[in-house]
Amino acid sequence: MSLVDQLDTVTDASAGTVDRHATTGTFESTSPASGALVGIFPVHDAEAVRETVERARGASERWAALGFDGRGKRLAAYRGYLARRLNELADLVHRENGKPHADAILEITLAIDHLAWAGAHARKTLGPRRVRAGMLAANHAAYLEYQPFGVIGVIGPWNYPVYTPMGSISYSLAAGNAVVFKPSEHTPAIGAWLAAAWRAAVPDAVDVFQVVTGFGDTGAALCGAGVGKLAFTGSAPTGRKVMAACAETLTPVLLELGGKDAMIVDDDADVVAAADAAVWGAMSNGGQTCIGIERVYATSAVYDRFVAEVTAQVQKLRPGSDDEASYGPMTMASQTGVVRRHVDAATAAGARVIRGDADPGLFPSENYLAPTVLLDVPEDNVAIREETFGPTLSITKVRDAEEALELTNTSATGLGGAVFTRSKARGLDLARRMRSGMTSINSVITFASVPALPFGGVGDSGFGRIHGEDGLKEFTRAKSITRQRVALPVNLMSFGRPATAADALARVMGMVHGRHR
Ligand code: NAD
Repeated sequence: MSLVDQLDTVTDASAGTVDRHATTGTFESTSPASGALVGIFPVHDAEAVRETVERARGASERWAALGFDGRGKRLAAYRGYLARRLNELADLVHRENGKPHADAILEITLAIDHLAWAGAHARKTLGPRRVRAGMLAANHAAYLEYQPFGVIGVIGPWNYPVYTPMGSISYSLAAGNAVVFKPSEHTPAIGAWLAAAWRAAVPDAVDVFQVVTGFGDTGAALCGAGVGKLAFTGSAPTGRKVMAACAETLTPVLLELGGKDAMIVDDDADVVAAADAAVWGAMSNGGQTCIGIERVYATSAVYDRFVAEVTAQVQKLRPGSDDEASYGPMTMASQTGVVRRHVDAATAAGARVIRGDADPGLFPSENYLAPTVLLDVPEDNVAIREETFGPTLSITKVRDAEEALELTNTSATGLGGAVFTRSKARGLDLARRMRSGMTSINSVITFASVPALPFGGVGDSGFGRIHGEDGLKEFTRAKSITRQRVALPVNLMSFGRPATAADALARVMGMVHGRHR
C-alpha cells in the first residue's frame, strides 16, 4: 500500500498519540486545481505541540548518541526510501500544491540531493577538531566541536512543500537534532507523508522526525514549546511574529523570508538565454517561488531584443493541471487577489502589459493566472516594491548595468538574483555587489541546486542559512574546550602570580604587536 493510501491512517495514527490530550478539531486540505479533498488533519494545540516536542527531546538524546556514522546510515535509508517513492510523492505534491508532476519531481530531486550532502558532510563540518591554542594558552590543547541543539522546530510554507522545509529538516537531522515540523495549512498531507516516510525508513528512531499540523496558532505554539531553535520559512510579516514569540524564551531563530529578486541583463549578454531564464525564473511554479525573478533591468543596448524574446517565449506558456501545462494554479486562492492588485497598480501607473496567447476563458478556473509581463513600471509602484508571488515579470530599461545594480539594491529584500553578461570579471563583480544572499551568473536559481552553497537572504529576506557547511552549523552551537597539557611556572590567571608578571606580559605584547603601525 502506498503512503498516500495510508495518509488517513497516518493522520489518525499521529492524532492517536497526540490527539487524546488536546487538539481543537480538524481541518481539510483540498486540491487547488479541482477542490477535491486531499486529507483531513488535526489542529494541534499548544499542549499537543508541547508533548510532541517532549517526545522529540527524548528521541534527540538517542539520535545524538548514534554519532555521525549511525545517523548517516539512517539518513541514507531515508534518502533511499524517498528516491524509491519519488513518483508517489510527486503525485501528492501535484494534487495538494497544484504544480505539474514534472516540477514536483525536480523539487523532490533537489531535496534528496541536499539530504545526501548533509549526511555525507556532517562529520567533517561539525566533528571534534583541535585548533591552535595561540600564544597566551600555548601550554593548553584547544578543541572545537559543533553540538546539536536537541530539538529544532521547523515551520514551512506551501510553495516548495518538500524542498524548502527539507532544507532545514535534513541539515538539522544530520547535525544530530530531532525535528518537529509544522507544514503549511495548505500542504499538510505532504508534511505528514514526509514524516510517515521517515517512520517507515528509520523504524528505530520514529520520534526523531515528527509532524504537527494546524494553522498559525500551531506554529506559534511550536515557537514557545521549548525547542532549541526555530527555523521559519514563510512571509516577512509572519517572520516578525515568529521572532517576537521566540524572543519571549530567547529561542534562536532562522528566518527564510520572501524576496523580490532581480535579473540584470548587461550590454554583452546572450539575450536569448537571458530571456529564457527570466521567463522560467518568473513563471515556473506560477511565480510562487521565493527566489523567482520578479524584476528585470535590461540595458538600453539589449532592451528591445530582450522584450521581443520574452514576448515570444511568454506567448507559448499555458497554465493548467495537465502534464503538458507550463505551470499550475495559484496554490492559495487569495494570492490571485494580490497578483491582480499589483498588475492593476502597474497598469494604472502607465506600464505596458504583455500577456501570453493562452485564452483565460479556457483556463480551468479563476485560480489559474495568465503569464503577464509589465514594461516600464515606475520604481515606486507596488508591483516593483512588494513580492507579487505570481506569474508576472517587470522589465525596465536602464542606461547601463550600474544603474541596474543601483535599482536592484534599493529593495528592502535581498534573497537571490541573476546577472547576464559574457564577461566573467563583470559578472562576478556585479554578483558580489548585488545586495542579496545568492546570485547566479548566466542562469537563474542555480545556487539552490548546489548543496555546498549556503541558502538565505539579507534585509527583509531574513537571516541565517540552510544548505552547505553554514547550513549544518546553523543547527548547532559551537562548543569550545581547553585542556591544560603542562603547568607553567607562572600562571597569569591566578591570584598567586608574581607582581612583575603583568609588566613582563606588556613587554612581550610590545614586541609581538607593537611594531605594527
Ligand atoms: P506564511 O508566512 O503565511 O506562512 C508560513 C508558515 O507560518 C505556515 O506554516 C503558517 O501556518 C505559519 N504561521 C502563520 N502564522 C504564524 C505565527 N503567528 N507563528 C508561527 N507560525 C505561523 O507564508 P506562506 O504563504 O506559507 O509562504 C509564502 C512566503 O514564503 C513567501 O513570502 C515566500 O517568498 C516565502 N518563502 C521563502 C523561502 C526562503 O527560503 N527564503 C522559501 C519559500 C517561501
